[in-house]
Amino acid sequence: MKYTKKIAVARDLFGERFVVATIALPGRLATLVSNLPPSQNYSVDKLIDDHSLFPLFRLFLFQDRILSIKEDLIGKNGSIAYTRLGLTACSIPLPGPEDLRFCPVCITEDKNRWGECYWHRVHQAPGVEVCPIHRVILHKISKNTLKVGFETDFLAAESIVDPPSPTIVDTTDFCQAALLNIAIDMAWILNQHDLSCDLDFFDQRYFMLLTDRGFVNRSSRRKFDILALMRQLKAYYPAHFLQMLSCELTEHETNNWLFRLLYRRDYTTHPLYHLLFIHFLGYSIETFVGLSSPRNQIPPSPFGLGPWPCLNPASPHYGQRVIQDCSISSSTDDRPKGVFTCECGFVYSRIKPDTCEDDSFKADKVLAVGYVWEETLRKLWGDPDISQVDLARRLGLHAHAIQCHAFRLGLSFPRPGGQVLQPSQKLQVHLYGEQISDQERESYRLSWISAIQENPGIGTEAIHKKFPKIYKWLYRHDRAWQKEHRPPRPKLRQIRKPILDWNELDRRNAEVVTEIALQMKKSKDLPEKITRAALLRRIEKGKSLKRYLAYGKFPLTAQALDSVIEPPEEFVIRRICWIRERYLQEEHILPKRETLIKQTGATNYMKSQRVREAIDDAMLTLKALDLPLSL
Ligand SMILES: [Zn+2]
Ligand SMILES: [Zn+2]
Repeated sequence: MKYTKKIAVARDLFGERFVVATIALPGRLATLVSNLPPSQNYSVDKLIDDHSLFPLFRLFLFQDRILSIKEDLIGKNGSIAYTRLGLTACSIPLPGPEDLRFCPVCITEDKNRWGECYWHRVHQAPGVEVCPIHRVILHKISKNTLKVGFETDFLAAESIVDPPSPTIVDTTDFCQAALLNIAIDMAWILNQHDLSCDLDFFDQRYFMLLTDRGFVNRSSRRKFDILALMRQLKAYYPAHFLQMLSCELTEHETNNWLFRLLYRRDYTTHPLYHLLFIHFLGYSIETFVGLSSPRNQIPPSPFGLGPWPCLNPASPHYGQRVIQDCSISSSTDDRPKGVFTCECGFVYSRIKPDTCEDDSFKADKVLAVGYVWEETLRKLWGDPDISQVDLARRLGLHAHAIQCHAFRLGLSFPRPGGQVLQPSQKLQVHLYGEQISDQERESYRLSWISAIQENPGIGTEAIHKKFPKIYKWLYRHDRAWQKEHRPPRPKLRQIRKPILDWNELDRRNAEVVTEIALQMKKSKDLPEKITRAALLRRIEKGKSLKRYLAYGKFPLTAQALDSVIEPPEEFVIRRICWIRERYLQEEHILPKRETLIKQTGATNYMKSQRVREAIDDAMLTLKALDLPLSL
């Protein structure tokens, strides 16, 4: 079309003179599509799917983010899309005009096939350095071409006059082979139009593969052994290779892309990082996406994915994630409660759901210490060199609790260097429950039975009130027996709800309606028109009656309403009578005929003979009294 200035092209395509040509994520697509000739078949979706780099990022995004970014591209906020994708803060650069790349073989093929060549999208993708189709090294646009381009800011691929001769990728070279794999996978992702996996998908599979490879921590608070992973990743990819891709791995354990890829859910991670990691794990993106879901049959546990750590400090595997068995129930206040049972016999429970990873290293309650712990206590108990504090630290329980366990195990008291002769009764009760004699139990049971027998018809609640001591003792110490021996439930006096007789109700409502209509007519007050609404307003529960009427529930009432409703003419006549009375009783003047007509609201009804007669009648009556004429 021989446009000579960028401004003119920009105005015609984007409706704006000053637009910046972008390669990765173009904006203003709605304007562009509307400004294209009607015969073209480009849609906004087609431009995004087939001509932008957005599909690269889409694969790793949640649906809501995908939608908002698409809106950015369609509208005028194209630049916000970069921020949403975390690209403004990312060290991997996006292609600019000076980075436009091409494959010499593609150029020749395009020219032969189409008569002209074009910029291939995949060649511009970050990390793509080779042509995935021809397996040759890509070339960057020359400075001379760039100079020409700067005059228009829109660079046609045709401006590459002489494509250089192609250099075939040497797949025996690790770096070149790795680059080829990246290019092939980038091309694959770009061509997936309906695939979005989101981060959960990747997280689950990373966890599964890293578990298989032994990178999942069993002895530390972090899920993954990042340091070991980083070591292996650095051994796999040469430093200069990562540097060339702007994907260097810093030494810092947490401040690097690998850590963010595995831990930071809020962070949008660049597709190139994912590809580098997936290739390191031995997969291509296609085979990775095809991996079946690892554990999606298991509903998410409030305590996270197992295995869980053993919290028995006496065990050699203390702090390691060795517990496979977690039973989940509800605590008394309905929070999820997990009971974790370890092979070493140590059982603990946690109540609150995990809010951070550290939570899984805190037990709410130790339910059983187990044989490993007990053995350790036996060994340490008699050792005079071990202080009480040491003992508590090494066994992870409070000193009093340790004393109780020692007492239970029959260890000697006082222990060397200790003073406690025996743990207190209260403590033992706290740990093992109260020791109750059969005699005591029998006496409470008897009291309970006699309380029931002597008070026929008494219920459990009444016993609780009348004999609180017996009730409470049995409730605390003998609950199962108490439950079995509860008195029969006292029979509740059945209060019969009267059965509604709808017909009767209908008849009564109909009567009420007629009565109210009559009262309204007789009323000495300013007449109100007898309408359905006016009647229902005056009836008790008129609102619900209105609903029932709508359902056709009260036919007689409906009939009564219809029959008493006042036709407009009737109402005007009633008003004429009422106003006539007012003149007679209070005003003592003779109104003009027109005034009377206006006052009685009869203006619009003068065509009716009955209304006319009523007015005439009223005037006659008033005139007969010889009243003074009103002015
Ligand atoms: Zn090519
Ligand atoms: Zn254990």
